[in-house]
Amino acid sequence: MTGSFPNLFSPLRIRGVEIRNRIFSTGHGTFLAEDGAPGDVMIAYHEARARGGAGLIITEATEVHESAAYSHGILQVRNDDSGPGLRRLTDAVHRHDCRIFGQLFHPGREVLHTTDGTAPVSYSASATANERFHIMPREMPVSLITEVIEAYGAGAGRMINAGYDGVEVIASQGYLPAQFLSPRVNRRGDNYGGSFENRMRFLREIGESVRAALPDDRVAGLRISGDEIGPEGLQPDETLEIISALGADGVFDYVNVIAGSSATLGGSVHIVPPMNIDPGYVAPFAQAVKERVDMPVFVAGRINQPQKAEAIIASGQADMCGMTRAMIADPEIANKAAAGRTDDIRACIACNQACIGHILEGFGLSCLQYPETGRELEYGTRIPAAQVRKVLVAGGGPAGMKAAAVAAERGHDVTLYEGAARLGGQVLLAQLLPGRAEFGGLVTNLAREMELAGVRVVLNTTVDRALVEAEAPDVVIIATGATVNKPSIEGAEEAHVVDSWSVIRDEANVGTDVVIADWRCDWIGLGLAEKLATAGSRVRLAVNGYMPGQTIQQYVRDRWLGDLHKLGVEIIPLARLYGVDSDTAYFQHTTSGEPIICDGMETLVYSLGHDSVDSLGADLADWSGETRMIGDAMVARTAEEAVFEGLKAGVAV
Ligand code: SF4
Repeated sequence: MTGSFPNLFSPLRIRGVEIRNRIFSTGHGTFLAEDGAPGDVMIAYHEARARGGAGLIITEATEVHESAAYSHGILQVRNDDSGPGLRRLTDAVHRHDCRIFGQLFHPGREVLHTTDGTAPVSYSASATANERFHIMPREMPVSLITEVIEAYGAGAGRMINAGYDGVEVIASQGYLPAQFLSPRVNRRGDNYGGSFENRMRFLREIGESVRAALPDDRVAGLRISGDEIGPEGLQPDETLEIISALGADGVFDYVNVIAGSSATLGGSVHIVPPMNIDPGYVAPFAQAVKERVDMPVFVAGRINQPQKAEAIIASGQADMCGMTRAMIADPEIANKAAAGRTDDIRACIACNQACIGHILEGFGLSCLQYPETGRELEYGTRIPAAQVRKVLVAGGGPAGMKAAAVAAERGHDVTLYEGAARLGGQVLLAQLLPGRAEFGGLVTNLAREMELAGVRVVLNTTVDRALVEAEAPDVVIIATGATVNKPSIEGAEEAHVVDSWSVIRDEANVGTDVVIADWRCDWIGLGLAEKLATAGSRVRLAVNGYMPGQTIQQYVRDRWLGDLHKLGVEIIPLARLYGVDSDTAYFQHTTSGEPIICDGMETLVYSLGHDSVDSLGADLADWSGETRMIGDAMVARTAEEAVFEGLKAGVAV
């Protein structure tokens, strides 16, 4: 049943390749490659999305040449070594009637390190320094240009030999072809720089090299940023001129548009846009492209629901919708949409924490909401319980909800008790921070999973030993969360010293000159500063770290830092709270030990982490049944660890 989404579930034919619907996974890093090739983990990850109904999977940026190499954790087609793994990958995806394209990648100057951790000699169109990574590249000599262009063709040939249906050249996000295209990065004086035609030459020759390596029925696509968003990056009018010229050439069969650039912090936010950027925001640019070229246009950028994707296709803005994180969060999203089960979709909330957050830290991707992602081999299939057990879950935050859902899916008899009137735990607070409302989707999605699995929920009931003895379960899962940590400093009990939770809930009386003591350097300090500055307060944000948001995903943080700058928030780094009096907060510099004095203050708001609520564990220490403690009750961390430990507990009982 695809009645609600007739456009989304119509096929698209490009050359000899028929794509069954308009949902595709964009090329995205996974950090699941093993020595540059797909192994079992990566294959299981992509196969789950193919099985879940995706029309097309474009695999990640794949190094084409030695000068593009920087990590064992990403794919490579520099040589034949990855061929057998790529073949296993394409076979696995094809088994589910899903098509697969590969991405041909050269980062140019956007290369941080080599595989041994030293800085490489990086090449670009010109010796134009990179702002974000502070890289000073060398102008690529013509002999290397020729070699790299040939490598694109050789890489395309290797992908086709491995069973790919097509390839995509990455000219987006400030990578090497884009460096040649930009007149502000490319300052060459030879045939590859200067005029528009000369700056186009590198990409055109790549296109010809790739096309020459492909059979007639296979597809060659181009990925490009509509607006690279940065002083040196391509502007929308320039990109449209480039795409129009390439459309006339007829070398590429489709164009895939996105936004942003790796070259600046502001541009890189758009590589994986966080939740305070509108869903589908690149679609208007895709429409502008469609008005200029006679080839299919793909688009991505926060398209997290089938309704949005259907609207984009139906209105003619684009022909294919990239729903990458949508499928990281719910690999079955296409099948669910096709079956009309939209209420069952676990919509991506654009938190960026466990997908791109993991990858940029050098770990395999996963999902905060669905930690089975990237762990398909271990957790991708629910194994029915050998014996039905009575499971009592104490606590209705993310950890308890996930544990309850998974245990019930396996056939156990599960009851979840929550002390408050609503499910959600700290998520109910997180969703109140500015621009973070979508985080509440985590609770909506977990509640639906519990409902589908048949979990009984009892609200307004705190679990104690008497309740456990009365209910006599086989297992108690303790997921009682955490509470706010209070400072042990003189003056902490004064009325003008308030905790973060009471400010988020609008329960505290906050003055117009506020100092925030942010120990954890996470979302809370950033959110409090935005909330209070927006309300008109003068805000000084003193962080016990290098910068606010130091511990969270960089695109989320960097966007927020820009917002705080616009609001005039004063940032004080490396500040350890050690005292407060009536109008002054006292900090100590965390390296020099010298005092930092914030005077003239009316309110001190503290965000100093959380304390576990774990007393039920002690109460049940000599109880005869099985107990498991998870999430913040064990050690206060984040929703990601809570959900993952809920999964593990639900699997283990
Ligand atoms: Fe979406 Fe967050 Fe999951 Fe990434 S970790 S796929 S942003 S819900």
